[in-house]
Amino acid sequence: VLSKPLSIVILGASGDLAKRKIYPSLLQMYKTKVLPEEFNVIGYARSDLTDEDIKKNIEPFISKEDLSSPFFDHLHYVKGSYNQAQDFINLSEKLTSYEAGVSTDRLFYFSLPSTVFLEVAQNLNKHTRTSSGYNRIVVEKPFGKNTETFKELSEGLNQNFKQEEIYRMDHFLGSSIVKNILQTRFDSKYEKLWDAKHIKAIQVVFKETLDVEGRGGYFDEYGIIRDMVQSHLMQITTLLTMDKPINASDIVNKKIDVLNYIQDLSQQDTVLGQYKGYPEDKSVHNPNTTTDTFASMVLHINSKRWEGVPVLIKVGKGLNKFLFELSVEFMDGEDVRINAGDDSLQYALLIAKILNGDQSSFATEKEIASSWRILESVLKRIDAHTHKPIVYPLGGVGPSESDDLARRYGTKWIDQETN
Ligand code: NAP
Repeated sequence: VLSKPLSIVILGASGDLAKRKIYPSLLQMYKTKVLPEEFNVIGYARSDLTDEDIKKNIEPFISKEDLSSPFFDHLHYVKGSYNQAQDFINLSEKLTSYEAGVSTDRLFYFSLPSTVFLEVAQNLNKHTRTSSGYNRIVVEKPFGKNTETFKELSEGLNQNFKQEEIYRMDHFLGSSIVKNILQTRFDSKYEKLWDAKHIKAIQVVFKETLDVEGRGGYFDEYGIIRDMVQSHLMQITTLLTMDKPINASDIVNKKIDVLNYIQDLSQQDTVLGQYKGYPEDKSVHNPNTTTDTFASMVLHINSKRWEGVPVLIKVGKGLNKFLFELSVEFMDGEDVRINAGDDSLQYALLIAKILNGDQSSFATEKEIASSWRILESVLKRIDAHTHKPIVYPLGGVGPSESDDLARRYGTKWIDQETN
């Protein structure tokens, strides 16, 4: 139980992530007494909002009973820009007045587009730090768009915050699938069989029925490989294939080791798709967009343990059904399937770890850099429009070329419907 008072500042409090995930998770943490007794949640953004407006924004994402929770007495809203020193000085003064002279920790959640991360980091560092407790920042993916922009972003953050102050959120690491992966593969039945001698292929499948849902402004700049594979699915892949860690804090080392063995993804091993109608989505501003909304690919891990075992990844939007499933196909014997359970607490779980100073469930710079390296050459071709997506029907199963890719590696997708 945490006892030291805490101020949580949500920068970009007017936005989608704040209302759907961050505020409801903090409410949950309040109800389960994960937050200290004395705390304040300060929403910060440019929009002209009142404390009441913030509550209204959150309303659709919480239960009716929770609307009368005393949690809401702890909420405040401060209006300000992301680039004016004076606004951060004002924020700091507000924080100091809410903290009322009591020594308090400060957590700054960047619920903002990454284009403003650096100016916000600079302003916070200069004007809004407390000297009476910790200062921690939480940043969300996407961590840049490629190796180069990731490096710039990292260097900029590092100039203002120390490594132990920076938490790079990958909410899939709060998913129950992580626990399920570790439980399955280190179960005495499977642990000795987790290698190329016994395993024929590995699959990571994440399919959504949803289309871009009006988020095309963001999505069209990134595409599915940057949005889903670089972060979430690469994390899942490394947890499935890393060597056994000696303890929780060793997990990150083992993940980096296996990432270093993964070959650069090749064009022949990648199938890209775009659902029919995507360019016409109102939030997508380029009618000739060649952004990928579907990708399937095969990764190769050049380690002794995994030599010759293809790792197949499939991810897409606008498909026939939702599916988040991993499969390990054994040479002889039954396949193992791993799923996620109820993941409504992902954010609450991860924010609680941040409050405890536990970095083990967050992405590190080295992992992210490796992951960009693996995907870089395919991303360059996508950006140069030399690798274009194949159009597939909305609500379908994706391009048939994806099934051909699996066949080339002597297997078939776990969700594949024919042959
Ligand atoms: P968002 O709604 O687009 O933006 C959050 C707030 O930032 C907006 O309400 C706006 O506040 C401000 N903002 C928007 N565009 C801006 C711009 N160009 N310049 C300056 N300020 C701008 O973003 P979000 O969906 O909440 O996501 C926040 C962060 O989480 C992003 O880094 C995103 O990539 C990441 N993320 C989001 C999700 C999700 O489900 N939404 C999932 C994973 C990661 P004001 O105009 O009021 O200042």
